[in-house]
Amino acid sequence: MILKTNIPLRDHSNFKIGGNAKYFVEVKSKEELVNSLNEYREIDPCFSSVFVLGKGTNVLFKDEGYDGLIIKNEICGIREEFNEVEVASGELMQDLVISSAEFSLSGFEWAGGLPGSVGGAIRGNAGAFGGEIKDNLLEVTSLNMISLKTIARNNLECRFNYRNSVFKYEANKEFILSAKFSVKKDDKKEIESKIEERVSYRKDRHPLQYPNLGSMFKNIPVEIVPKDVLEEFKNYIKNDPFPVIPVAKLIASTKLMGRREGDAQISEKHPNFIVNLGSAKASDVLILMNIIKEELKEKYRVSLEEEIMIL
Ligand SMILES: Cc1cc2nc3c(=O)[nH]c(=O)nc-3n(C[C@H](O)[C@H](O)[C@H](O)COP(=O)(O)OP(=O)(O)OC[C@H]3O[C@@H](n4cnc5c(N)ncnc54)[C@H](O)[C@@H]3O)c2cc1C
Repeated sequence: MILKTNIPLRDHSNFKIGGNAKYFVEVKSKEELVNSLNEYREIDPCFSSVFVLGKGTNVLFKDEGYDGLIIKNEICGIREEFNEVEVASGELMQDLVISSAEFSLSGFEWAGGLPGSVGGAIRGNAGAFGGEIKDNLLEVTSLNMISLKTIARNNLECRFNYRNSVFKYEANKEFILSAKFSVKKDDKKEIESKIEERVSYRKDRHPLQYPNLGSMFKNIPVEIVPKDVLEEFKNYIKNDPFPVIPVAKLIASTKLMGRREGDAQISEKHPNFIVNLGSAKASDVLILMNIIKEELKEKYRVSLEEEIMIL
């Protein structure tokens, strides 16, 4: 039996929250992945409850746990070439950023300090500082977990948009295996200084001393913000990568910063973050998320959309 049982998900979450997974496996290769899927097929032939986990920096696991299989992706490897990088999906984004810089390859500077795996970043089209994972992506290879067929998609076929890709909806039964990116040789010092700038920005502004999942809600495109609210917050519009009103600014204008529910707290440092002060439960976090949604709906007539995934 490759699959383990009753594994605490809090140990695999950046939030340190969550009940147990009924079945759990860590895979280090495509072969291990296929073997695990074949074993699980006996338990759940329709694969109705299978979840692929990267580094757990964007998933809130519920307190009751997960009644299915969690596959933790540990498939690693980076191959740098003159103008192309091929990377396995279980690599940390930071390892990709740093190793590309070591080879003087430009293309990932925007991602300096971005937590999580390459697979997680592709699925959610992660972005920061005006850049997105899709910008220099050439091809993604994935495995359909039901048919076990390997699929290669070019950038267009991945249908990227704001924190979205084909893997989030139509292809959510696919395990992203690897990706190819285009890069170009550039001045090493300049690449490193851009990365360092982004890392310091994050250290200064994010409450990284506590377990968290980053921004809980997506920023709001200006077109859907009521005119009077837009006028009030016009100085805070940022390109992310299109004009948005940062949710953090809206929350900061309420009395919600620092609000606690159990050990979960709306961060005072970055109010779109909820932090775990010690033994927060998923239910505490969900209560705070609801409070934020209701307050901003009432005060600014905006509907928030979760950026994190709730399992
Ligand atoms: C402090 C902090 C700052 C952050 N800043 C940013 C930011 O600036 N911009 C931003 O976009 N995000 C940000 N995030 C969110 C997060 O880092 C990204 O979404 C990251 O890309 C998620 O990667 P992960 O490996 O942790 O994915 P996980 O949290 O493990 O999973 C996220 C989703 O991706 C799916 N997934 C993961 N790997 C695969 C795979 N191989 N195949 C198929 N599906 C997969 C999972 O099923 C899940 O639905 C931040 C998070 C934190 C904690």
